[in-house]
Amino acid sequence: MLRKNSLTSRILAMVCITSVLICTLITFVGAGVIYTTTENSLKSEIETAAHTFLNSYDNKYHGEYYLENGTLMKGETPLDEDNFIVDASQIYFSSDIDFTIFLGDTRMLTTVKNPDGSYAVGTKCDPIVKEQVLDNGLEIFFSNVDVNGQNCIGCYIPVMDSYAQVNAIYYAGIPLDLAYSNVNRAVMIFIGISAAVLLIAILVCSLISHRIVRALMDIRGFMDKITSCDFSCEMQYGGTLSRKDEIGDIARSASTLRDTLRELIELDPLTCLLNRRSCRKNLEDMTAENKPFTVIMCDIDHFKNVNDTYGHSFGDAVLCRISSVLYNFCDACGGYASRWGGEEFLLVIPETDDKKVRSMLDGLLDTVRKTETQCDGKSVIATLTIGAAVHIENEPFDDTVNRADKKLYRGKNSGRNRIVM
Ligand code: GH3
Ligand code: MG
Ligand code: MG
Repeated sequence: MLRKNSLTSRILAMVCITSVLICTLITFVGAGVIYTTTENSLKSEIETAAHTFLNSYDNKYHGEYYLENGTLMKGETPLDEDNFIVDASQIYFSSDIDFTIFLGDTRMLTTVKNPDGSYAVGTKCDPIVKEQVLDNGLEIFFSNVDVNGQNCIGCYIPVMDSYAQVNAIYYAGIPLDLAYSNVNRAVMIFIGISAAVLLIAILVCSLISHRIVRALMDIRGFMDKITSCDFSCEMQYGGTLSRKDEIGDIARSASTLRDTLRELIELDPLTCLLNRRSCRKNLEDMTAENKPFTVIMCDIDHFKNVNDTYGHSFGDAVLCRISSVLYNFCDACGGYASRWGGEEFLLVIPETDDKKVRSMLDGLLDTVRKTETQCDGKSVIATLTIGAAVHIENEPFDDTVNRADKKLYRGKNSGRNRIVM
């Protein structure tokens, strides 16, 4: 369902209105041009036909038009309908053009037919033709004139008698529906193509707008998750981050924002290990998901002495050096290391087998014992005391941490630089 004020509906409205306006304009202008061009070419064709008709009749039959005993005469020659039909078809090669010879305002010889199929002999011309051509003696082209009840495009040529009076009229013309049938078809095709283009434009536009909106919604969902402190979130659609447009820029900025916030909120600024808060959050999640783990509490031995002897910044360097050893240890076994506070670190590893944990921690202590911190030409090797506790099913993680803490104190009290499990 499309919301009224949604971006998709606005983009669609924008494209639809513009496309409809452009298509309508093109259709009207295009159709107008086609009709005008056709009318001009029809005009010249019909005028040529009318004059050819007049000239060839005058050449073939000499003299004036008059009636004799109901028969139309031209000079000495009686003209009849059958000959006229043959003549008309020979004079101008176009089956569509109708010819008529009027005497006064009456059709005497004509190819124009009545609705019943008979020739419209004896019918009258349109009053406007009578007025303009018969009375005023003008040669006139009509783009729309009534010919025996049918709308036609046609040309009327007045014929003078010896008294310089118009007594006859030549007519050549085509019914409008016949004259414009091809044009009408072309215009219908033109309108059909315009409608198809319009439809395609709307479809393409709705597809593009759908993608834009989907990417924007993706970023919005991502930002919502960051707002609720879920820094492990990712964009839902892979395409959002790889977009090359401004939306892609926004997505990448949001992703950088997540990393920066994550660093500020989850990591300890000195050692870059997880801080206590995020470590607790991880423990909470692991407990909730019933994941097996061992808590390892580490404390640097006699660290106060390091500070007192070499200064606080050297102490910081030692903290960082030990931190990187702890990080590598946890990273290698799929766990994580955190700075629990001061010179205390809490490690969580997925291994829960006592013996395996013990041997892993032995290795860790050995590494620490070999790890030198050098600064200003001075070198210090720090040692760790470790208390470890395997998490028991359904045990609150704080209890596991307390057990590990107690073991750490036992280690401190029994000489330091050792592991108590
Ligand atoms: P123990 O073996 O019993 O653990 O002795 P300790 O000296 O390590 O323990 P104590 O609790 O007496 O001293 C901890 C010291 O750690 C005191 C404090 O100044 C130092 N410390 C805590 N945080 C930092 C820090 O961020 N940087 C530095 N340089 N020192 C710190
Ligand atoms: Mg200590
Ligand atoms: Mg301590």
